[in-house]
Parts: sequence; structure tokens; C-alpha cells
Amino acid sequence: MRTARVLGSMETTLILLKPDCIAGRKAGEVLKRFEDAGFQIRGCRMFRADSALLREHYAHIASKPFYPEVETFMQSTPVIALALAGDNAVGRVRDIIGPTDSKKAAKGTVRGDFGVDVMANIVHASDSPENAAIELKRFFRDGELFDYEMSYGTKSA
Ligand code: ADP
Repeated sequence: MRTARVLGSMETTLILLKPDCIAGRKAGEVLKRFEDAGFQIRGCRMFRADSALLREHYAHIASKPFYPEVETFMQSTPVIALALAGDNAVGRVRDIIGPTDSKKAAKGTVRGDFGVDVMANIVHASDSPENAAIELKRFFRDGELFDYEMSYGTKSA
């Protein structure tokens, strides 16, 4: 008998560890959650986000009254961009982080456990495969995304 296996689609998604995550020293804990969920790190870059980059990234909220505060927040420390790959990575990462407003995010989600409010919500993550492709190009240059085999393991702690 033929067995059909439904394959997920291998995707790469873009994460930003925001200034509240960096200043709160939660970068390791947040990355651990993504690694524990089986995602592969394809890229990692720390930088200061300038106003033009933020305006492009947040074009959908740039005319909102709260936008200037978001820009100040996002420039208060450098941020870390991660490119994470895995089956259905875009949707699964959004599930792991929880909804935008940290106060409404369930315990056990990244924003529910570490976020303070709707602005200071620890991470950005792409919301569709189409936006992931755009955002990966926005935050990583040619040659900064890697394809590689995970050949060696570790002892579990
Ligand atoms: P998400 O980051 O969950 O995709 P949005 O794209 O709607 O959410 O918003 C982008 C970011 O702007 C949010 O992650 C948050 O940091 C900030 N933000 C959204 N809405 C508000 C708001 N009402 N007040 C302050 N900051 C906000």
C-alpha cells in the first residue's frame, strides 16, 4: 500500500530581536526557544537600525501616531536579525512568539513570557512567506545567508 506523507514546506523567516530583548538580556533565551523547536540558524547579524530602514520595514504603521515612539524604541540599542529555517517556519515562529500585544499573549509564548506591552514585545517575525523573502533581503546582504548540513551533535545538557 502506498503511504502518503504530507510534507511541510521548508521556509526561512526573518526575526528581529528588539531593544527590549537585548537590554533585558533575553537574546539567549529567545534563541533557545527557536533552536529547541528545531529551527536552523541560516543567518545572524547585529546592527543599529537607521530611520530610513525602520521607515521601510514599518511602512504599514509609519503614519500612525505611535510611530515616532516605535522608532525611538527600535533605535535605543542595536538589534539582532536572525534568519531561521524549518518546516513552515513563518507560521510556526509566529505561533511561538504570540500576538503583537504582550499583555494579550499567552504564557509560554515569547511575548507572553518576556514582553511588557504592545510596543515592547521582544521580537519581530515575518508574517507571510512573501514578506519573509522581502525582509530577508532587507536585513541580510548577499552571502550572509548560509546553506549547510547539521552534521555533528552534542551531549544533551
Ligand atoms: P507585529 O510586529 O506583531 O507584526 P505590527 O506589524 O502590527 O505587529 O506592528 C509592528 C510593531 O509596531 C509592533 O511589533 C510593535 O512593536 C509596534 N506597535 C504596533 N502597534 C502599536 C501600538 N498601538 N502602540 C505602540 N506600538 C505599536
